Amino acid sequence: MSAATNAAVDMAKWEMVVGLEVHVQLKTRTKAFCGCSASFGDAPNANTCPVCLALPGALPVLNAHAVELATRAALALGCTVHERSIFARKNYFYPDLPKGYQISQADRPLATGGRVQLADGTAPGITRIHMEEDAGKSIHDRYQGATAIDLNRSGVPLIEIVGEPEIRSAAQASLYLKALREILLYCGVSDVSMEEGSLRVDANVSARPRGETEFRNRTEIKNLNSFSNVERALELEFARHVATYEAGGSIAQQTMLFDAARQEVRPARSKEGSHDYRYFPEPDLPPLVLDAAWVEAQRAALPELPAARRARWVGTLGIAAADAEVLSADAAVASYFEEVAKAAGEGKAAANWVMGEVLATLNESGGSIADFPVTAARLGALITLVKGGAVSSTAGKTIFQTMRTDAAEPKAIAERDGLLQVGDDSALEAWISEVWAEHPDEAARFAGGEKKLQGVLVGFVMKKSKGRADPKKVNALLSSRQTAP
Ligand code: ADP
Ligand code: MG
Ligand code: ZN
Repeated sequence: MSAATNAAVDMAKWEMVVGLEVHVQLKTRTKAFCGCSASFGDAPNANTCPVCLALPGALPVLNAHAVELATRAALALGCTVHERSIFARKNYFYPDLPKGYQISQADRPLATGGRVQLADGTAPGITRIHMEEDAGKSIHDRYQGATAIDLNRSGVPLIEIVGEPEIRSAAQASLYLKALREILLYCGVSDVSMEEGSLRVDANVSARPRGETEFRNRTEIKNLNSFSNVERALELEFARHVATYEAGGSIAQQTMLFDAARQEVRPARSKEGSHDYRYFPEPDLPPLVLDAAWVEAQRAALPELPAARRARWVGTLGIAAADAEVLSADAAVASYFEEVAKAAGEGKAAANWVMGEVLATLNESGGSIADFPVTAARLGALITLVKGGAVSSTAGKTIFQTMRTDAAEPKAIAERDGLLQVGDDSALEAWISEVWAEHPDEAARFAGGEKKLQGVLVGFVMKKSKGRADPKKVNALLSSRQTAP
């Protein structure tokens, strides 16, 4: 039964409760407990050794860089990093898990507490962040009637970020993931690519009548490989819970799979949720002990985080909050914008140029900001020319296009291409007179008191001057023209 077919179901009466479990692959060169390459996309089983193949007697050695990245992520998310955490064995059988257990952290995780600041002003909590290793991959579509195992991913370092059940809508879940991804990218912790599996999301969802304070049973949805699938699956599963309750039924804690092709959520074949992993401390690894001073040094080395950066732009550069969102969506664009603003000595114009000309050009050409030919310094110089009135904004755009293939400085281009703004009264009057003669109707109505035509006439003059006329001066000269042609 679905909620859509039951007209009596009042969805507004129900509240969605969501808690996300996010697995993030750390951007290390090698695996968590051996020296094998952690890179993605190599030939199957090329990156394996006795440790990650689970050969008897092989011993794990913890990757220090993985600890550093995990700590950095935890600090960036406002968590408390514990000086002592413990690796444990999480036992279960799976064909792509050769050891029969995964090394993870159970009751003594690396970090606890924390929050993610979202664009809608909310800040859902983080319960814990722990380190663990990935399993291998079962490949079902390579050989007819057989499953192949690729152990390249076996032992790749992950963190799991367990969120509090404080998310209340599918849209908020998306914002949470977006913010999380942005922070991890900024900090260089992970590539956070859902396509390559370096960001994986399990979504827990339940429904309760608005006003009820207890949580009801949740189901956990796996196989979510895009933010829009997370949203879609949450909506579908929430509607199923509501319809079930409305029909007098109950929801059992269960693992569900999202089938994107069929746009449906269905129970996973095995009854999970009743798993007993028989955790016990990993005897081959000592407790992970971090020096407080080292943790503080990691904190001090964090880059300015995206939310703080946006707040600074809004506060000191006068950028609108929505524009700050656009400009900071990509860390490289954000740095470019900052350099442009510095070079131009002004934030707002820099924001308009970067959001307008630069991003439009990049979208169109598919290029990246890293090799964009109009460097921040050159764009800053162009903005300075426009601001100072040496070239009009229309001519500025023409110069910008030229700069994409011409390494000359914007001023030199303006001089060479005759794009310097004309503010000389006699030249402007000559253009106005021509416009007066060519558009007698508009000119007469303007002279007769229809002031709203002023903009139209300025437009004609700008066109005639090929964008070179100083529009402020044209406006002033027009205002004093009171005679019909
Ligand atoms: P487990 O230890 O079985 O994985 P947790 O209590 O750690 O269970 O919760 C796992 C995830 O499920 C967390 O992200 C949490 O926020 C979420 N969660 C727990 N209870 C609910 C609920 N009633 N509704 C929605 N999400 C929930
Ligand atoms: Mg869990
Ligand atoms: Zn290995």
